[in-house]
Amino acid sequence: MKYQEILESICRDVQSLAGLGKQADYIPALAKVNPDQFGICIHSIHGDIYSEGDADVPFSIQSISKVFSLAIALNLMGDDLWERVGKEPSGTSFNSLIQLEAEHGKPRNPFINAGAIVVADILLEKLPSPKENFIEFIRELSGNPHIDYNEEVARSEREKGYLNAAIANLLKYHHNLNGEIEEVLHFYFLLCSVEMSCKDLAKAFLAFADHKTHFSYHGVDLTSSQVKRINAIMQTCGFYDEAGEFSFLVGLPGKSGVGGGIAAVYPMRYSVVVWSPRLNQKGNSIMGMKALELLTTKTRESIF
Ligand code: GLN
Repeated sequence: MKYQEILESICRDVQSLAGLGKQADYIPALAKVNPDQFGICIHSIHGDIYSEGDADVPFSIQSISKVFSLAIALNLMGDDLWERVGKEPSGTSFNSLIQLEAEHGKPRNPFINAGAIVVADILLEKLPSPKENFIEFIRELSGNPHIDYNEEVARSEREKGYLNAAIANLLKYHHNLNGEIEEVLHFYFLLCSVEMSCKDLAKAFLAFADHKTHFSYHGVDLTSSQVKRINAIMQTCGFYDEAGEFSFLVGLPGKSGVGGGIAAVYPMRYSVVVWSPRLNQKGNSIMGMKALELLTTKTRESIF
């Protein structure tokens, strides 16, 4: 497959969407990002790397970090995790409160904010040095020791994080949060603030694409079955109330973030990461979604 040529043609094609949508501005520090950037990178399980555009530029991974925190929580708790957070698609926006109230404080899945806040609580409680352990895990997955949190982004999100604070309060009310609300929120925002490039993320997601190679990074050991299940949750829950649309148009398990990144995997073939900050109404990258739709159309490869 001529992936490099395909990526070049995708880069040209998505230009027709340039300027549509806007970057997330409810996190003040993210409003400053130049919205007119676009990068894409494919990393095959054989080690071939193809990239185009701004694939080396670090960006705020935001909710893509929920895949990494889920991997650690699964390692720590095994199937007991599912007593605190579900694994069904929510059909609601990433920061919705309504379902959480109706379902008595048990979030639908680990990829909506409520679920990820519970996962952050578990990491805080069970890891010996949560902040260091989490970042070291990502550094090892991506092979890049320079990856770090952006504390300014985390702080700026906390300043305006009224909805996430409401979610944490509701979780606490329903006894599904053990830590102090402020501490858990701070850690959750820190996890979202990690900065990585398309190339870093593609390398990191290779571990999820290649589920037949033993997953063992910085003390996190997952079985092939656990890795496949993380992919299953990406497929059904990775795009909030647009998970069906992403399945329909793209046909790969993936996870988006409001920084404009999308990481996806074609199991046992490759990982692919695309980034462009302008988002649609549902909080997913407009050019990113289109680029991945074009990728699976042009290559005629998807999981279906
Ligand atoms: N930090 C963001 C939030 O909690 C993450 C949301 C996202 O990327 N969809 O609102």
